[in-house]
Amino acid sequence: MNVKLIAYTPDPERTIAAAAKICYSSTDVETISEGLTPEKTESFLNMLTQIGHESPMEHVSFTFAVEGVSRSLLAQLTRHRIASYSVQSQRYVKLKEGVFSFITPPEIAKDPQAEALYLKSMEQCHENYLALADALQNRHTQTLLDQGLSEKEARRKAEKMAIEDARYVLPNACETKLVVTMNVRSLYHFFQLRCCNRAQWEIRELAWAMLQLCRQIAPNLFQKAGPACLQGGCPEGKMTCGQADAVRVRSQGL
Ligand SMILES: Cc1cc2nc3c(=O)[nH]c(=O)nc-3n(C[C@H](O)[C@H](O)[C@H](O)COP(=O)(O)OP(=O)(O)OC[C@H]3O[C@@H](n4cnc5c(N)ncnc54)[C@H](O)[C@@H]3O)c2cc1C
Repeated sequence: MNVKLIAYTPDPERTIAAAAKICYSSTDVETISEGLTPEKTESFLNMLTQIGHESPMEHVSFTFAVEGVSRSLLAQLTRHRIASYSVQSQRYVKLKEGVFSFITPPEIAKDPQAEALYLKSMEQCHENYLALADALQNRHTQTLLDQGLSEKEARRKAEKMAIEDARYVLPNACETKLVVTMNVRSLYHFFQLRCCNRAQWEIRELAWAMLQLCRQIAPNLFQKAGPACLQGGCPEGKMTCGQADAVRVRSQGL
């Protein structure tokens, strides 16, 4: 998994502090950033967190580029609706021969028998995909030629028509690449749910990587962000992982 922070709102902590300042003082737009020293900024951020006033956090966004993750992760990630996504298309990008990338869950990778079965399934899926894509492309090409398209144009159009149907045999394991943007409020919520040990290993790994990148840029803003157990007891009841102490240590080590 490769996660890069590719953009963020400039001066994120001061931007949020300025938004908070307009809520709680008689400042005007000309002087909104005046006096926002690092100490004052930090105290505004603490106050917002303490009273649960999270809407000023929506003025700052972070954009991540992510690769080396599965379509399975993609399905979970895109359930987070307060975000923007751009994802590599399986309709437009053909998985060429010899370059079929997929993600292997660690529990499968550490078991030779399971891994062998897994690799065999992946190979089979890829072979079926290529065979289907070829068969469909040939049929579509002929139809398009009959409609009067040039050979080149017919082949190009037919390939796109073919791969968008052939992809139905591809597995959840398929590697994908994406760009995701979330504002800070949404990131807090995402980290709370997905840094938690109850989240699946892959999206959890992504969430911790994103949290680490956010903390490097805006330590005060993200100091307390993470799973709910960082702030107190675990809210998961019977489903608790029982490892809140280890989770807190992990957070401190970011
Ligand atoms: C451990 C775990 C297990 C899960 N298991 C399942 C599962 O088995 N099946 C399944 O389908 N999903 C499952 N999910 C996904 C989960 O149900 C959410 O879809 C996902 O976590 C996104 O959360 P969200 O809707 O709060 O986030 P967002 O979509 O980012 O929304 C953020 C917040 O905005 C508000 N909001 C957004 N849209 C609306 C709306 N239409 N109406 C009212 N308020 C809204 C809510 O307060 C929401 O919490 C699981 C998630 C986790 C973390």
